[in-house]
Amino acid sequence: MKVSVITIFPDFFPGPLGISIVARAIEQDALSVECIDPRAFTDDLHRTVDDAPFGGGAGMVMKIEPIADALDAAGPGRRVMFTPAGAPLSQEHLDRWAGEAHLVLLCGRYEGIDQRVADHLIDEEVSLGDFVLAGGEVAALAVIEGVARLLPGVLGNPSSIEHESFRDGLLEEPQYTRPAEFRGWRVPDVLLSGNHAAVDEWRHEERVRRTRERRPDLLGDSS
Ligand code: SAH
Repeated sequence: MKVSVITIFPDFFPGPLGISIVARAIEQDALSVECIDPRAFTDDLHRTVDDAPFGGGAGMVMKIEPIADALDAAGPGRRVMFTPAGAPLSQEHLDRWAGEAHLVLLCGRYEGIDQRVADHLIDEEVSLGDFVLAGGEVAALAVIEGVARLLPGVLGNPSSIEHESFRDGLLEEPQYTRPAEFRGWRVPDVLLSGNHAAVDEWRHEERVRRTRERRPDLLGDSS
């Protein structure tokens, strides 16, 4: 899979892309990531990518021309733009995008991007949540990491993908490892019992209980 990130801050990426699962995905050729800087498509002295908003108001807006040129340079692919006005990013997006040959991620800066980009040049708009970042680069990294771990052969134990939060509309159960007791805080007895059926039942109950307590919005009819 190829990911093209359109960003005026390409320096954001090499550090995080060189670590752990994403680095392994790139090393294995399961993933390649390129950055395309809209500034490369400007021809004025100052390489201007932003301008004052029509209608007045605070801040600057990213211009359409350098972004349109950067999208053209990226070539055909699934085009995703980051904006607080987008759909909340979910595992469903990542599952779907992990099946794409080419993902194009567009990072905004300043007050955001000329609306005509979203209206005419983009397939999907997503948000990391109900808060405002300074740019889309952190969101792009979140998508790259979330997708990389789904690519075939990247995770050591692929079954961990099937049994994690959100797979069946439930959060994951709490997990424990040695020691069985620390400062008087004991691991639930059932996990030490060796009774696999009881462990499975406990895990399922915990997933339902946690989801009900923390994320009732996730619980459909399956509860
Ligand atoms: N003026 C905009 C915020 C612009 S922040 C507003 O009020 O909605 C600048 C850029 O950061 C955005 O174009 C977007 O690419 C990115 N960004 C900010 N918050 C984000 C979020 N919650 N999710 C995804 N991208 C975000």
